[in-house]
Amino acid sequence: IAGASDLGVQLFARGAKGTPLTPEIAINLAAVNKRLLALARQQSDDMRSSLVEAGVRIISGHGRLDGPGAVVVSTGPQGTAFDRVEADTLVVSVGASPRQLPQAKPDGERILTWTQLYDMTTLPEHLIVVGSGVTGAEFASAYMNLGAKV
Ligand SMILES: Cc1cc2nc3c(=O)[nH]c(=O)nc-3n(C[C@H](O)[C@H](O)[C@H](O)COP(=O)(O)OP(=O)(O)OC[C@H]3O[C@@H](n4cnc5c(N)ncnc54)[C@H](O)[C@@H]3O)c2cc1C
Repeated sequence: IAGASDLGVQLFARGAKGTPLTPEIAINLAAVNKRLLALARQQSDDMRSSLVEAGVRIISGHGRLDGPGAVVVSTGPQGTAFDRVEADTLVVSVGASPRQLPQAKPDGERILTWTQLYDMTTLPEHLIVVGSGVTGAEFASAYMNLGAKV
């Protein structure tokens, strides 16, 4: 209970003196999202440190393949500096980005991708989740439990 506000959960209690209290719960979505993003950042930092500790050389920049055995990484502002790295084996692991539907372009206010969702500071009254993968199901149940009509 003492740490609830750090999690974005605000507790209020009502009740006449000497009678059991009736708790009321409110969600501070800005605090919830701030904590989530901090946890994600911390996890990324931990991963980076583990790699460095294991002896991995990390180059931050935008990479592109340069033939079958090399990668060129632009590291300077607007791609002004380059680093070329050769290797026998290259693992391309560039992840995925949210698909944007042409009929419903995300504007970050009413239509949001998952990357924009964490900027929300107030709980929407109604929410429609498009997409039924694990992330969509997770958002649907999370926002339903936070009190939005999903
Ligand atoms: C909202 C959400 C919640 C999730 N929750 C969970 C969870 O609780 N548990 C779980 O296990 N999984 C979860 N996942 C899934 C998990 O995040 C992904 O499966 C995982 O991150 C995929 O890892 P990856 O390395 O393939 O890609 P990513 O994590 O996307 O990493 C790819 C990286 O490559 C970089 N990149 C792309 N192109 C280039 C380039 N040309 N040069 C240099 N860098 C480049 C990108 O910027 C990115 O940093 C979640 C996903 C989402 C969207």
